[in-house]
Amino acid sequence: MKIIGIGRNYIDHIKELNNEKPTEPVIFIKPDTSLLRDNAPFYYPKFSNEIHYEVEVVLKISKEGKHIAEEFAGKYYNEIGLGIDLTARDLQAKAKEKGLPWTLAKGFDHSAVISSFFDKGELPNIDTINFELHKNGEVKQNGNTKDMIFSFKKIISYISKYITLKKGDLIFTGTPKGVGALEIGNHIECFLENKKVISFNVK
Ligand code: MG
Repeated sequence: MKIIGIGRNYIDHIKELNNEKPTEPVIFIKPDTSLLRDNAPFYYPKFSNEIHYEVEVVLKISKEGKHIAEEFAGKYYNEIGLGIDLTARDLQAKAKEKGLPWTLAKGFDHSAVISSFFDKGELPNIDTINFELHKNGEVKQNGNTKDMIFSFKKIISYISKYITLKKGDLIFTGTPKGVGALEIGNHIECFLENKKVISFNVK
């Protein structure tokens, strides 16, 4: 399986990092070794001094598809969860400066924290999903999928023009504003429509 991330999909987050609003989705990939599941602790790596959390809605692809038309894209995922696209912001800043890829900043081990997945039918409305990240009990990010620049359907259709999507692939759909640094000792919790779905410690 592969993990595909979308960058710059919420206007308020683009502004906080002084990025430009994209005209097409910004795509990157994390390897399968980046997964961190089951609320396991995250061990802060030595190569970065600035790891940021980015809570995101994650789609799980349910069948193989290529060149998926937007109107049919909804048939390619049945389950939704939350994830945290952990980003070594210091490494990313260096890469950006030189116009180099973000691979190490986004793809290091355990940089893709994920929750359990839920049938999309369990959510009241997938176009207006509320989600939050709390650090040490304080709300740091509060987003809603209605504020996405590129919809789930658009993202699936766009990616599948270039990369075949396969059953089990995960798509991180972008983060709202409020990203910030993780520190050793932090307790992180994420909520999908008020249901706690992620809870782990930074060690
Ligand atoms: Mg992200």
